[in-house]
Amino acid sequence: MKRMKRALLVIFLVITAALVAVGQGRAARRVAVTFDDLPMTGDAGRSTGEGVLETNKKIVDALKASGVPAIGFVNERGLGAAEQREARTRALRAWLDAGMELGNHTYSHKSFYRTPLADFEQEVIRGEPVTRQLLAERGKRLRYFRHPFLNTGRTLASKRAFEKFLSARGYAVAPVTVDNSEWIFAREYADALAKNDSEKARRVAEGYVPYMESMFEFYEKLSVDLFGREIPQVLLVHANQLNGDHFSEVIEMIGRRGYEFVSLDEALSDPAYRSRDDYVGAVGISWLQRWLVTRGKEFRKEPSMPEYMRQFDPDYSGSDFKTRRGR
Ligand SMILES: [Zn+2]
Repeated sequence: MKRMKRALLVIFLVITAALVAVGQGRAARRVAVTFDDLPMTGDAGRSTGEGVLETNKKIVDALKASGVPAIGFVNERGLGAAEQREARTRALRAWLDAGMELGNHTYSHKSFYRTPLADFEQEVIRGEPVTRQLLAERGKRLRYFRHPFLNTGRTLASKRAFEKFLSARGYAVAPVTVDNSEWIFAREYADALAKNDSEKARRVAEGYVPYMESMFEFYEKLSVDLFGREIPQVLLVHANQLNGDHFSEVIEMIGRRGYEFVSLDEALSDPAYRSRDDYVGAVGISWLQRWLVTRGKEFRKEPSMPEYMRQFDPDYSGSDFKTRRGR
């Protein structure tokens, strides 16, 4: 009888410890921050090498100041011609010097949807040399790949074949859960700066953080509906002037929501990231939306941009792959 009591006590303690651990796991939301289109979005030929370097330094400084680990995905075409190459390569070094990681985002940012598999594989290989060299200088390895436009292929066969190619080359796919249209804000912000339209720049920046918060809310709920819990999220943003000037405010917002910033490695170690994903289509969508569709559930569209922003994109439909499919 005594032995029985002791056994029951042990079971009770084990269950209590497990509940405490689960409770702690729930207390801290986790997010990995990823930046695409390094050295800088859509800027080829427009900004000077020094301007690109400055923007990257501002982003990296904001990350460092808040102790946020991040990974930047590189399009090596963006390193540009000889006169800009040095400064732009230094922009990549700034990330590594700050302890951030770099990954491959293809050479020239073609969409897999419109590019034959063999050509797309060449885009990966052509996108490697500088990034690989910079990582090697620090004893690091190029190991993450991010699909441009989050497009993972036109057919399930090409998607699977490409995944095989990636893993044979030593890459892991870097998924995105908190997908968003930050790039439209960034495009309009850059346009406003170029035209010295400070009123427009102010309004775009003002709408940016609340918009990003609405995306977090949406994907937190979607995660709970899919997995019964909030999985570690993976945020996608881009290396651009908007984030050079305002990413620290995004960091603050995420922090206010109770998030701990973690590496991509840590986020992806969650078993949710081994979920089946059969989605293929013209529109790049969040992995949470992919998992939803793969499970045969109805697609759920993320919140729209604020009214002020929609004037710049009258055709804007977010990730609504149903209306944009086959374009
Ligand atoms: Zn991109």
